[in-house]
Amino acid sequence: MRVLIVEDEILLSRQLAKALTVAGYAVDCAADGEQADFLARTQNYDAVVLDLGLPRLDGLTLLRRWREACIFAPVLILTARGSWHEKVQGIDGGADDYVAKPFRIEEVLARIRALIRRSIGIASAELRCGALALDVRTARVSVGGDPVKLTSHEFRVLSYLMHHSGRVVSRAELIEHIYAQDFDRDSNTVEVFIARLRRKLGASFIETVRGLGYRIWKPAAGDLP
Ligand code: CA
Repeated sequence: MRVLIVEDEILLSRQLAKALTVAGYAVDCAADGEQADFLARTQNYDAVVLDLGLPRLDGLTLLRRWREACIFAPVLILTARGSWHEKVQGIDGGADDYVAKPFRIEEVLARIRALIRRSIGIASAELRCGALALDVRTARVSVGGDPVKLTSHEFRVLSYLMHHSGRVVSRAELIEHIYAQDFDRDSNTVEVFIARLRRKLGASFIETVRGLGYRIWKPAAGDLP
């Protein structure tokens, strides 16, 4: 899962980026509205954290432009404390949720998890595929209750596939959602991550759909966790 942070307070932006990276996300940062606009139009994000007071282009204008341009990534706005009109304008402008400054990083993380789940239509914070479980709150993965240790990129690949279980995900789509923008991308590495995941989790969970990509099956209705 890949998140864009749009915040001109550099210290705050760094804190958010660090916390999100530790939580298993690929993170890009923009410090002004124009840079944010460019990134949102050229990259694929699973969620955006958007400060409203920004240099060059303010957050509300950005948000309205994105929605007009059919960029529908869920957006969490950061508002000034007590500014109810910012919240109202933000939500009317297409924001999905808001957090008032100052905030606890944990609250932002929880809201992003919920936004991403809601945008995909997942009700639970624990994603399951048979014996395989991924808890998005703790970024922990287990098979049959036994914890499995993954590297950050292995986790991102698995998390993306599990958030989109039942659907074939192409290698190109995976690459867009597991790497930050400045990361040196190599499409062959996806195969390497998949091979390692199969070794660690067992070969049965991730299916290769020849010529198209990879798929993790949705548990059938009635499957017990
Ligand atoms: Ca600001």
